[in-house]
Amino acid sequence: MATYHIETYGCTSNRGESRRIERALRDGGHRPADGPDDADVAILNTCTVVEKTERNMLRRAEELAEDTADLVVTGCMALAQGDLFRDAGFDAEILHWDEVPSAILNGECPTTTPDTEPVLDGVVGILPIARGCMSNCSYCITKFATGRIDSPPIEENVRKARALVHAGAKEIRVTGQDTGVYGWDTGERKLPELLDRICAIDGEFRVRLGMANPGGIHGIREELADVFARNRKLYDFIHLPVQSGSDEVLDEMRRQHRTEYFREIVETFDDRLDEWTLSTDFIVGFPTETEADHERSMELLREVRPEKINVTRFSKRPGTDAAEMKGLGGTIKKERSKAMSELKRRVVGEAYESMVGTRRTVLAVRPGTGDSVKCRDGAYRQIIVQRADERGVEPGDVFELEVTGHNTMYALGAPVDGEKSRSIGAADAV
Ligand code: SF4
Repeated sequence: MATYHIETYGCTSNRGESRRIERALRDGGHRPADGPDDADVAILNTCTVVEKTERNMLRRAEELAEDTADLVVTGCMALAQGDLFRDAGFDAEILHWDEVPSAILNGECPTTTPDTEPVLDGVVGILPIARGCMSNCSYCITKFATGRIDSPPIEENVRKARALVHAGAKEIRVTGQDTGVYGWDTGERKLPELLDRICAIDGEFRVRLGMANPGGIHGIREELADVFARNRKLYDFIHLPVQSGSDEVLDEMRRQHRTEYFREIVETFDDRLDEWTLSTDFIVGFPTETEADHERSMELLREVRPEKINVTRFSKRPGTDAAEMKGLGGTIKKERSKAMSELKRRVVGEAYESMVGTRRTVLAVRPGTGDSVKCRDGAYRQIIVQRADERGVEPGDVFELEVTGHNTMYALGAPVDGEKSRSIGAADAV
């Protein structure tokens, strides 16, 4: 369990992003520190409106880097001018808001409390389908809180999903510690059927499948890829945390998969879907990770080229077996994390570059910073539309846009005139 300190600058929207980050960290069992000096990790959520603000942000980042064990810089300035922080020479991870919780959660799965009920946040409905997992990862503290998988019946989850749709959800996020093992406690692998049933609910909405470990998905990969292929409501997106490219390290982590499982799942989805997004996580600097193991992780990343990658620097969680292992030095962990983060930026940047000039149908999901709206295409890629008011775009709209540019975190797009209100089932890329 880590303690965190979060500082937020700028507009209401930025404060909303900080609240979302805090909620995810608290759900993950972390707690706020009394101040930066007591925190294991500090999060600086930046603003960049005028030059003076920029200088203040850089100075504050430098102070926090000295005061706390780890520093994460996020927010508008981190996204628009991340190089200013990288070039300043202090040790900080520069991340998109959405990447912050998983980077801090040490590769552990997100938690849900036993009485977790669906939540509607704007037009996004969060649907926890089960609690717990089937694993015993050596670095994980979450499992002590959540225990073994406990799967409610399909009918119950479908009823909750239907209620979310009736309440106005346009995007349903199917979540859990490990969605891939839903139903295993009852002796059945029920995820494919559950997704089919949710997609069959009447209404205009999309469904995003949350994190699923490769060990749970491998045995149902063909059936699951078919579910994705036949359901246009399902975002063609899958989050498969591989954590390492080395089977030896995976053994020490007590993950329930081999790198080969991961590759085979990716091949199956490549066969079935024309365009989809692979999201994965790597833990860098696990205690037994050698230089050769690290290079295997880098090779896997180069080979599979996920479009969304969370890189977490290993840190010990009290009471876990990995906390008893002799750890690597901080410098080694920092160097490996830096190398992988640079590779990640290149791989993700190239993926976004290939989207520029294409047209795709998107769902506007949330307000962004300033006068912008965050949208998702059929493969759950984030595309930001600026000047949203002037363009008449708001959360819940479905429309066609052209991708006009990108940075290393998201793409930028402009609506194509006269194409608003296409249905969610329309073709995604032209
Ligand atoms: S799958 Fe592993 S990391 Fe996730 S909650 Fe279970 S034990 Fe923890």
